[in-house]
Amino acid sequence: MDIKEIFKQLDLQDTDINGGTLAVFSPTDGARIGQVKIDSSAAIDSKIDQAQVAFKEWRNVPAPRRGELVRILGNILRDKKEALGSLVSLECGKIYQEGLGEVQEMIDICDFAVGQARQLYGLTIASERPSHKMREYWQPMGPIGVISAFNFPVAVWAWNTALAVVCGNSVLWKPSEKTPLTAIACQKIFAQAVAEFGDDAPEYLSQIIIGEREAGEQLVASTKVPVISATGSSAMGRLVGTQVAKRFGRSLLELGGNNAIIVAPTADLSIAFQGILFGAVGTCGQRCTSTRRIFVHADVYDQLVPKLKRAYAQVKIGDPLDESILVGPLVDKDAFNNMQAALVLAKKNGGDIIGGERVLEDKYPAGYYVQPAIVEMQGDVDNVREETFAPILYVFKYTDLEEAIHRQNDVPQGLSSAIFTRDVLEAEIFTSESGSDCGIANVNIGTSGAEIGGAFGGEKETGGGRESGSDAWKVYMRRMTSTLNYSKELPLAQGIKLDLSDFD
Ligand code: NAD
Repeated sequence: MDIKEIFKQLDLQDTDINGGTLAVFSPTDGARIGQVKIDSSAAIDSKIDQAQVAFKEWRNVPAPRRGELVRILGNILRDKKEALGSLVSLECGKIYQEGLGEVQEMIDICDFAVGQARQLYGLTIASERPSHKMREYWQPMGPIGVISAFNFPVAVWAWNTALAVVCGNSVLWKPSEKTPLTAIACQKIFAQAVAEFGDDAPEYLSQIIIGEREAGEQLVASTKVPVISATGSSAMGRLVGTQVAKRFGRSLLELGGNNAIIVAPTADLSIAFQGILFGAVGTCGQRCTSTRRIFVHADVYDQLVPKLKRAYAQVKIGDPLDESILVGPLVDKDAFNNMQAALVLAKKNGGDIIGGERVLEDKYPAGYYVQPAIVEMQGDVDNVREETFAPILYVFKYTDLEEAIHRQNDVPQGLSSAIFTRDVLEAEIFTSESGSDCGIANVNIGTSGAEIGGAFGGEKETGGGRESGSDAWKVYMRRMTSTLNYSKELPLAQGIKLDLSDFD
């Protein structure tokens, strides 16, 4: 399906995706599929001002009514799931099933947020003073800046926007410069939801900012945007986090991962195999939660690793929109070069490599398809500490669980981790205070992907942010503590007594 057809199926055939200067290329074959307008610096300033105006109206709409807008958005997404899933697939290169999965995550977070709209609970707290009540209120923050990465071009916006909107905020979204078409489509879909909702939703409630990193920098620098939710590389997050902190803003950082799976001697090797394979080759290794390292116990190494190698040689690689395909392309030539550089280094460090080479070059001279790589590391190399955003799986052997957990944790990133074991003690150790140090620690499922009901994110250079489910909504609100006196006295806290008789 080509881009015209997809926009037609989305009922967005009148959308201008060719009148600008930012060229958009499909990773599937490197063809240009759009050329969109970039927002000037002045246009970004005015969008920020408009977001403030929209916020001041929207915060007064009751939260359950705000939830109604998100319910409508979720329903439109249900109707457009296949078309939007195809667009995700065409623009970022993930296979169609994963494109559909991403849109399903948008629908799921909408459902979650609709419920949350009636549950923005604060506490009531016992006051130490007589005839006093203490309460906690959660209030909207203001415009929320969302910066997103190419590999989840629509779900990350939805995770943030569905919650930010029910919490009473407006949203400014700076998508990846590699995936502006999905953002334009989402913006139009949001506008359809607003039109159906009624005129108590202000214009400019959600806006997109199209541009490269400079556009993101401008958003990050603005004191009119109290919260910045940024998803991308740790290098980007280090800059964004520092800038936002300098102006005392709040940041929610969702950054790189270096995720590992431990396969214990008692593991069900059949499900471990599936979990590793999907986690490592899915999305062509371009998920923040992709499995990058496995630590396999010596007792099961020879059963599992040769089977993985055989499977790696057989995975179907090709056009991500062809439903028989498991592995689509890398996003671009830079990603391919980074993968090759990582493999050269692995070889230098004594790694034993299978796969990694470019494939389908004749068919797609400007598309970067690769054979996923397995690198068996020699005994004296204990770890790999860099995230390479490509399908490279580093394999290590271990004999002692404590040592395996130490090696798993001994990297700068802390996003996702997993253990496959049927030993209940090992499972409990892995999820204990001395177990995994990651934001996600799974037992008998892989590292990749997550349900929206849980808080999603990771520690250390993954940035510490949490979004999506659980109580992640709180990041889009400010906490207000209010003490109310229903007596005719004014007792001070901590029992302080002031003699004010001189003022009689
Ligand atoms: P990237 O860091 O190159 O870009 C991400 C976004 O940040 C883009 O929109 C970009 O324009 C913007 N940006 C870059 N520098 C900026 C700056 N100084 N100020 C403001 N904005 C700036 O990342 P990418 O290549 O698009 O995505 C891959 C990376 O994202 C990987 O490291 C992956 O692990 C990570 N990622 C993390 C999560 C998560 O939830 N933890 C999810 C998806 C991707």
